[in-house]
Amino acid sequence: MSVPYEASAEDGLDKLGLHVCKDRLDSVAQRAAAEGWSYTHFLGYLLDGELRARHEKRVELNLQFAKFPALKDLEGFDFSAQPSLDKRLMDELVTGRYLSEGRNVILLGPPGVGKTHLAIALGVQVAQAGNRVYFTTAMDLAHQLTKAVDQNRLHRKLNALMQPRLLILDELGYLAFDPVQASLLFQVICNRYQKGQSIAITSNKAFSEWGQVFADDTVMASAALDRLLHRATVFNIRGESYRLKDRRKAGAHTNGHGESSPLEQNDHPI
Ligand code: ADP
Ligand code: MG
Repeated sequence: MSVPYEASAEDGLDKLGLHVCKDRLDSVAQRAAAEGWSYTHFLGYLLDGELRARHEKRVELNLQFAKFPALKDLEGFDFSAQPSLDKRLMDELVTGRYLSEGRNVILLGPPGVGKTHLAIALGVQVAQAGNRVYFTTAMDLAHQLTKAVDQNRLHRKLNALMQPRLLILDELGYLAFDPVQASLLFQVICNRYQKGQSIAITSNKAFSEWGQVFADDTVMASAALDRLLHRATVFNIRGESYRLKDRRKAGAHTNGHGESSPLEQNDHPI
C-alpha cells in the first residue's frame, strides 16, 4: 500500500522553513515531469531557488545595515577621469581577498576625487557577497562612541563594531577629534587590527597630518597608523575633483565658459 507522500510534501517543506521550495513545488514538479528531469535534478533545482532567495534577502538586509549614504558601484566609476588611480589594485580588492587577509584599504586625496564613491562600491561588494559592512563617517563614529561612554555601554558598542566584515570610516580628518574621541577611535582601530578585521578609511589628510586629527597626539596617531598600515592597500588619488569637472563640462555646454573657481562652488563631501 502506498503512502500519499504527495500530500505531505508541501507541509514538510513548510515545517522545515523552506518556503520558496514550498511555493514553487507545483510548478517545478510540472516542469520536471514535462521535461523528464532526473530526481536529483529536480531536487537541486528546487533547492537552488530557495538558496538564491535567501541570498537576495541577506544582501538586502546587509545593504540596510550598512547605512550607505548612497549606492555606488565600480561600474559607475570613470577610471579614465582619475589616472593616478591604479584600477588593477581596485579590481584585486573586488575579489574580497583583502578581507580574509585582514588588509585595510586607505583612500587619500582632496575633496571630490571619488574616495567615498570607491569606499561605498567596495562596501556594496561585501554586502553582495553575503557579509556585513558598516559605513559611518569618522566623526559620527566618534560621537556614537562618546554617547556609548555616557550611557555606560562602551563595551557593547566596541563589540558591535567588531561584527561587520568591513568597517568603513569616511572623511577622517575633515574635523579633528578631541582627546577622548581620539582615544576611543584608537581602541576601535586596535580591536579590529587584533582580530584581523579590515577597515576602509577615506581621508583628505596626508598621513603626516594625522597627528592633528588625533587631538595633536602624534604618538597615538603613529600607533594607529602603524596598525592600519601593517597590512594595507593605499590609494593616493591626486586628480581633479569630479564634481568640479562635471560642472565645468556643463558650463562649457551652456555658456561656453569652461572655467569656474572652486570658491564659487558649494563643494561639500557627501
Ligand atoms: P570624495 O569622497 O573624494 O570627496 P566623492 O566620492 O564624494 O568624492 O565624489 C563626489 C561625486 O562625484 C560623487 O557623486 C561620486 O559618485 C562622483 N564621482 C567622483 N569621482 C568619480 C568618477 N571618477 N567617476 C564617476 N563618478 C565620480
Ligand atoms: Mg567623501
